[in-house]
Amino acid sequence: MRFEVIPLGTGAALPAQGRSPSAQVLRLEDALYLIDCGEGTQERLRMAGLSFMRISRVFISHLHGDHCFGIMGLLSTMHLLGRTRELHLHGPQPLKAIIDLQLQASGTWLRFPLHFHAVGDDAPQVLLEDERLTVTSLPLRHRVPTTGFLFRQKPGPRPLRPEHVNSIPHYRRSAVKAGHDLVRDDGTVVPNAALTTDPPPPAAYAYCSDTAPHPHLASWVRGVDLLYHEATFTTHLAARARETLHSTAAQAATVAREAGVGALLLGHFSSRYKDLTPLLDEARAIFPDTALSEEGRCYPIGPRSSAPGTGG
Ligand SMILES: [Zn+2]
Repeated sequence: MRFEVIPLGTGAALPAQGRSPSAQVLRLEDALYLIDCGEGTQERLRMAGLSFMRISRVFISHLHGDHCFGIMGLLSTMHLLGRTRELHLHGPQPLKAIIDLQLQASGTWLRFPLHFHAVGDDAPQVLLEDERLTVTSLPLRHRVPTTGFLFRQKPGPRPLRPEHVNSIPHYRRSAVKAGHDLVRDDGTVVPNAALTTDPPPPAAYAYCSDTAPHPHLASWVRGVDLLYHEATFTTHLAARARETLHSTAAQAATVAREAGVGALLLGHFSSRYKDLTPLLDEARAIFPDTALSEEGRCYPIGPRSSAPGTGG
């Protein structure tokens, strides 16, 4: 099953060094989810060849401009392109009033239903649960209410053991794949374990931006296959990180190590770094399976997630 993330913006608040503000697309099969929507996200979606219309949900972490200034442009373009399919938007409560005011002032009546879901930052909260995915908010520590997001796939159907496929009547196969025992017409019961194998473990991805170190974060993202964590500064600027409630690369890597994740992707780089090698080196010294996120590159999420270029 195709499950991957495409970072569209890897810069911090000031766009510089060719980096754009935060935005990512998470793709699960044919569904696209947008995570954060910094200024210019719609152009970068276009450059990445990703269809606006297939985005079904948008998750906004917080209301600093580098994470949400692109939302009005995106909504307006969806409207102008004639979108009729509903869109779900998850974000901090004040975002609803910001959008409503801009729509009202510009006399825009969206052609599609926009469903707003307020995300609180008191405790992790399940935001979405369907047959394929569970999305949970992760309260973070920043200067305004901020949450990360944890995307966890649901376990897939149990694969049938090939040698038994023909002995299971067609109309009972979906029940067996769902884990039920097989009851034959003569009343004999064949235990499910004899007919199926375990499905691959469900994959998980966590997005954590922006945040100072948070005491519970590692436990909330324990064992995820891929963790994106902001790394605005190197340890050299730890005081600046503390003051602005951001993380250093070393702090991001410490979360990855404590949580035992598969791989770490760094992002949200301060505009002061032209060369990002010092951030990467600092993180790899603590958590070797680390990569710098690159805009437009596709990162698969799964049991074998490993950071590109780390040999894993
Ligand atoms: Zn930011």
